[in-house]
Amino acid sequence: MVTGYSTPEEWGSLEGKRVLVRVDFNCPVAEVDGQLEVTDDFRIRASLPLFRELQARGATVVAATHFGRPRGEVVEEFSVAPIRRRLDELCPGVQLLENLRFSPGEEANDPAFGASLVEGIDYYVNEAFSASHRAHASIMIPPTLVPSAAGPNLLREVTTLESILTNPARPFVAIVGGAKVKDKLGIVKVLVERADTVIVGGGMAYTFAAAEGRTIGSSLFDPDRLEECGRLLETGRVEIPSDALTLPSEASFGPASGDEVPEVVTENIPDGTQGLDIGPASAQRFAEIISGAATVLWNGPMGVFEDERLRAGTETVARAVAASPAVSVIGGGDSVAALQMFHLEDEVSFVSTGGGASLEFLEYGDLPGLRALREGRGA
Ligand code: AMP
Repeated sequence: MVTGYSTPEEWGSLEGKRVLVRVDFNCPVAEVDGQLEVTDDFRIRASLPLFRELQARGATVVAATHFGRPRGEVVEEFSVAPIRRRLDELCPGVQLLENLRFSPGEEANDPAFGASLVEGIDYYVNEAFSASHRAHASIMIPPTLVPSAAGPNLLREVTTLESILTNPARPFVAIVGGAKVKDKLGIVKVLVERADTVIVGGGMAYTFAAAEGRTIGSSLFDPDRLEECGRLLETGRVEIPSDALTLPSEASFGPASGDEVPEVVTENIPDGTQGLDIGPASAQRFAEIISGAATVLWNGPMGVFEDERLRAGTETVARAVAASPAVSVIGGGDSVAALQMFHLEDEVSFVSTGGGASLEFLEYGDLPGLRALREGRGA
């Protein structure tokens, strides 16, 4: 069990009190009839039980979020107005402050800006796990000034990720993919220590393949990480693809797709060719490993899944994760997008809302915003 966090239940009656809740309502929006509207209100709906509970106990709820990247300036297109409209339909009475990032003080972690957020506020709740890896003012300063607590969704993320790190049911299989090996090497290093098998796919797998002495054509490659990948392979717990779906180096790929049909290449990828998805033999082998797992952690696609020609590897892995009776935790970002693409998001145990935050938590075991909550004024 996660310890060290206060919860809002500890505050008792909130009659006449004002509670500031830091949320992540960074929702997708699109223009509908000439005005921006929220197109996916999942993040808003996830906060409603907390808002309603606080209101039922007599509190006035003030919510605060970042939205897009206005970089410290007031930019009309990043106004929270569409989010406010949707929130008002779902939970009347909750006030939503204007975009925190309209002030340069937010990202600069300015104490004066942080203090301004809690003027007239009695309590603070951090319900934004996905923003807690950033030492920004709205995350860091309120816990030093008013009694502060962890929100239920934040606590659920921390509990789930922590139990995977400290006490996973075994075998524990981790799957790491995505483009850049440098972004994910830290997490692979941690997982090699904790998991029984770490499957590596996506663009990052080719630096591992090169470390095995295989040729990789013009696939993604990071020479600075070659040695480290070699050391990780020596543990015997890292599984990399044996075959790849490839296109000629000059071929275009992506969501708009192209005409060329990808070719399967086993072992060595020749010059003039790039690997863009795991091949069918690798997909099959990975699915078998996943089917034997008791715990699965997945972060990052196996290939350029936005391109339908280069989607099969990610789809096979996603279906294997969904079909597995294992505790399955999906680490945010592109893996969640992939799950949604195949309508499998309800088939897994836990979908983390924080892409960067969940990776950082798994790598370092803590986040700046969580530390601030534990070390703050609590109840
Ligand atoms: P990341 O943000 O690091 O999780 O990477 C996700 C992106 O990696 C997706 O947009 C994929 O299209 C891309 N990706 C996955 N595999 C490859 C590959 N073999 N070559 C190039 N890009 C890839």
